[in-house]
Amino acid sequence: MNKPVHAPQLHFPAVDGELQVGGVPLTRLAERVGSTPFYAYDRALISARVKAVRAALPEAIQLHFSIKANPMPAVVQHMATLADGLDVASAGELKTALDTGFDASHITFAGPGKGTHELRRAIASGVCINAESSGEIARIASEAESLGIAPRVVLRVNPDFELKASGMRMGGGAKPFGIDAEAIPAAVAQLRALGIEPLGLHIFAGSQSLRAEAIVDAHAQSFELALRLADECDFAPQMLNLGAGFGIPYFPGEARLDLAPIGANLDGWLACVRARLGDARVSVEAGRYFVGEAGVYVARVVDKKVSRGQVFLITDGGLHHHLAASGNFGQVIRKNYPAAIGNRVGAEALETVSVVGPLCTPLDVLADRMELPSAEVGDLVVVFQSGAYGLSASPTAFLGHPAPVEVLV
Ligand SMILES: *Cc1c(COP(=O)(O)O)cnc(C)c1O
Repeated sequence: MNKPVHAPQLHFPAVDGELQVGGVPLTRLAERVGSTPFYAYDRALISARVKAVRAALPEAIQLHFSIKANPMPAVVQHMATLADGLDVASAGELKTALDTGFDASHITFAGPGKGTHELRRAIASGVCINAESSGEIARIASEAESLGIAPRVVLRVNPDFELKASGMRMGGGAKPFGIDAEAIPAAVAQLRALGIEPLGLHIFAGSQSLRAEAIVDAHAQSFELALRLADECDFAPQMLNLGAGFGIPYFPGEARLDLAPIGANLDGWLACVRARLGDARVSVEAGRYFVGEAGVYVARVVDKKVSRGQVFLITDGGLHHHLAASGNFGQVIRKNYPAAIGNRVGAEALETVSVVGPLCTPLDVLADRMELPSAEVGDLVVVFQSGAYGLSASPTAFLGHPAPVEVLV
């Protein structure tokens, strides 16, 4: 059997052995940034990805961007020109979203444990609050009353199913997220007793799935659940957020997700939703699928050494900037992200190396025994698939090195 390999890197071309990001050769980009390590996100690739998703899904499906995947303000500003909704999960992300000038009625705020100060800011700004518990419903109502502003409330449902074959399950069983499906009628009654009519339902079953059939299945179950709840509660949701869970390939042996069957399935269900719920707004939300493949993390080789036969490239970047690539952000068995020597693409002399960072911990690994072009001190190591859950999901204070720069090119 052949060893599994990474899905082909389609996004960043190389010219004369040098990777291009946003059309700029990598070594020149490093000079422009002025320091390493850095994250670079490619604006045109993000646009192309959103366009491809629109082409694959029915036109009526609204696309929401989950800011937590990449909260860099310039990226969010760019996504604000492309998406139909922005989903935030903290008051900090709410500020970033509002700063783009995006229509507040198409910003939604989900997440367990929203603080009172966060609820007040959300009510005052007029965004939709995805209520996650009956305690939260009570807090929303009381803050809305003290502000004298009618709140916009969507109910987040913890479904009675899971997204199968997903990297992260966020629905089904006992979860801190959302209100259990069977408790939704009571939540609707609670809201109505407080004089609030819910605007819609939010059902998010999981994240990082590369299997179209699993997503099709989760979408079908989400539609069934939403229509059943609408009947049971005599309620006409104006908004139906179905989640998505669209994954990107990170590890050897993984292939890109095929959106075609997902689009066909949504198309069939939309007709049914139209018949039952009129012109309710049906959305899917995704973070990493829009931005993950459009970003690279770039670190410079500061030392090269051999220890008992194993070659190490020691770089100025590591897990303090990119926890996920080090394998410490929810991975059970550590696997390598796709990587390259960005100024020696296609070089013939190869070498098996481990790329590590400057931290005094064996966890600080960016690539474990990977075959790469033979590199020297000063070369630039590139970690692909780094546009989502990179910097903002990393422990930058650990060991006190400076934070990396982020650029949108
Ligand atoms: C994190 C999250 C997302 C985004 O997940 P991706 O895997 O980045 O697409 C979407 N919806 C909710 C509710 C989330 O918590």
